[in-house]
Amino acid sequence: MLDRTDQEVLLTWYAEHGRSYPWRVTKDPYLVLIAAFMLQRTGVSQVMNVYPSFIARYPKFDALSRADPTELSSLLHALGRLNRLPQMLGLVKAIESEHGGTVPDTLEALDRLPGLGQYSARSVMCMAFGRPYIMLDPNSYRVANRAWGFLSAKARPHTDRSLITSLDAEVPEDDPRSFNLALLDIGSQICRQRKPRHDECPLAKRCKYLKEAHDGCAVCE
Ligand code: SF4
Repeated sequence: MLDRTDQEVLLTWYAEHGRSYPWRVTKDPYLVLIAAFMLQRTGVSQVMNVYPSFIARYPKFDALSRADPTELSSLLHALGRLNRLPQMLGLVKAIESEHGGTVPDTLEALDRLPGLGQYSARSVMCMAFGRPYIMLDPNSYRVANRAWGFLSAKARPHTDRSLITSLDAEVPEDDPRSFNLALLDIGSQICRQRKPRHDECPLAKRCKYLKEAHDGCAVCE
């Protein structure tokens, strides 16, 4: 269970140390959705090779809905996954036919869109619409597990619905974006699976894992 201090530590840390990407500095639902779509099973550096030129070519949903599939295919090709074109065409078609060309603003509707996973739907709700949903991936789960003891018995904890519901309650309503992005950045850069950098971590003073590691430690006593 987090308290306001935990949340403030994360928000302050993110303001100073958070990584900056084009999709993090916009709240435009379409631009956020495109990033969420591309980031599925694809590394940030690979997406950075595609995203800027993609949104320059298709800055609005309307432009994307009229895109030439061959041109679209060559742009998406750089993401390195063969099924991206049919997935994107399916996504565009569903937004057009079911939502009048507007990115839906409920988790239920985003969850139903083809080509968009649960994590991506949550990231659109948080990043575009400012809703306090946890964006739980393996990195942010590792931080939540080590720092505060959140635990899942599932083989893929970041898909555990019960855990996700518990963590939703911990996201601050006043700045869910920075909170989630801080967890993701700390998990990928600092609280790494092997050799976590405790000395660089803003949560070190409050971290359960670190406290337990030092309990009974002769050096610390
Ligand atoms: S103090 Fe160490 S274990 Fe705890 S959250 Fe930070 S990096 Fe992870």
